[in-house]
Amino acid sequence: MTLTVLMNAGPWLSVPPPGYGGIENVIATLVPELRRLGVRVVLASVESSTLPVDEKITVFPDGQFHALQRPYNQVCGVSQAHLSGVVRALHARDDIDLVHDHVEAVGLATLAAMGPDAPPVLHTLHWDLAKHPELYGNLDGGDRVRVNGVSASQLARAPQALRAHSVGHVHLSTPLAVDADRHAPVAKGDHVVILGRINPGKGQDLGARLAQEAGFRLVLAGPVGPYHRPEDLAAAGDEARQNPDVRFFYEQVAPYVDGDRVRWVGTVAGRERDDLVASARASLFPLRWEEPGGTAVVESLSLGTPVVATARGCLPELIEHGRTGLLTGDEQELGDLVLAAGGLEPAECRREAARRFTPARMAQRYVELYDRVRTGAAKPLQPA
Ligand code: UDP
Repeated sequence: MTLTVLMNAGPWLSVPPPGYGGIENVIATLVPELRRLGVRVVLASVESSTLPVDEKITVFPDGQFHALQRPYNQVCGVSQAHLSGVVRALHARDDIDLVHDHVEAVGLATLAAMGPDAPPVLHTLHWDLAKHPELYGNLDGGDRVRVNGVSASQLARAPQALRAHSVGHVHLSTPLAVDADRHAPVAKGDHVVILGRINPGKGQDLGARLAQEAGFRLVLAGPVGPYHRPEDLAAAGDEARQNPDVRFFYEQVAPYVDGDRVRWVGTVAGRERDDLVASARASLFPLRWEEPGGTAVVESLSLGTPVVATARGCLPELIEHGRTGLLTGDEQELGDLVLAAGGLEPAECRREAARRFTPARMAQRYVELYDRVRTGAAKPLQPA
């Protein structure tokens, strides 16, 4: 019998995303593999999503990422409107065997509240689990609602009530990992890259300061709040500073951005992003938070670029110190490690990616978890 999964991607970005978009990238990677395995996928997303699926459920014409800038009540209205569409669909039809949900907080809360007539749910936790103590600390999804993490370290820090619903973790993957071990080497430039949204947890301020102190070229790529291009941020004026990531950028990062040694290039996408990462001496992750899953970490390995990072969150699970990257507990030491990263083998990084982080491997594991959720098996699956 064909398994039909409602994949709830949420209203924020189309799938695949136009540039930045960790969760949407994961869904765009997972769905084709699931369909290859015979799973029917109904995608709950926005109308502009172009990912081939069996059916779509949409409320909004296009990604509402820009609305995240609005006041709390308006942001809530967007996610609630999307979830209402999902609930309406679930009430109206009986062919959905499982909901695979990726919508922070409101997805889990709404689907858990639907009660015993709703299909089983697997909610993937893409976030820092310290964020919603009341929701996670009091979760009761019965046997019907299960969660999975994106790393073991993330789940280890989860509140007990959330952990009781866990069926294990699945590492993130990227299409770039497919045959990464057979790709021709790329010539390395003299730059280091930090790929990710500009945010205190991602630590671009620290990276930029170290670049100035240790004397390496640094490219910062990623959005600042909802602004994808430097000219859009400049045009937005002072009002943009209401966004905390914009304030962080202006106050903590921009003083080091001199357009030469340290550059902010905005969001990069597609080939441009891959070339920027593949030609970098190292990808730097000067983390100040417990990185839950690290899509950009896995992408960097796939592109043959060693990772230099603070040893936080999932980093020690994904990176082998001295082989695929260099990790440290000491922020100040990161600058020295960046200079030492040239001694690591790009081919070793690509081999690791091809072995551990392919879409096929991720999809296989999710199919196993779907089975566990549907049959009510509670014990977490041991790591693959
Ligand atoms: N990304 C991108 N262009 C950018 C910055 C980021 O395409 O300029 C992508 C990056 O390749 C990754 C995702 O956005 O796929 C970020 O996901 P990650 O898990 O690293 O970070 P988070 O979800 O915490 O923002």
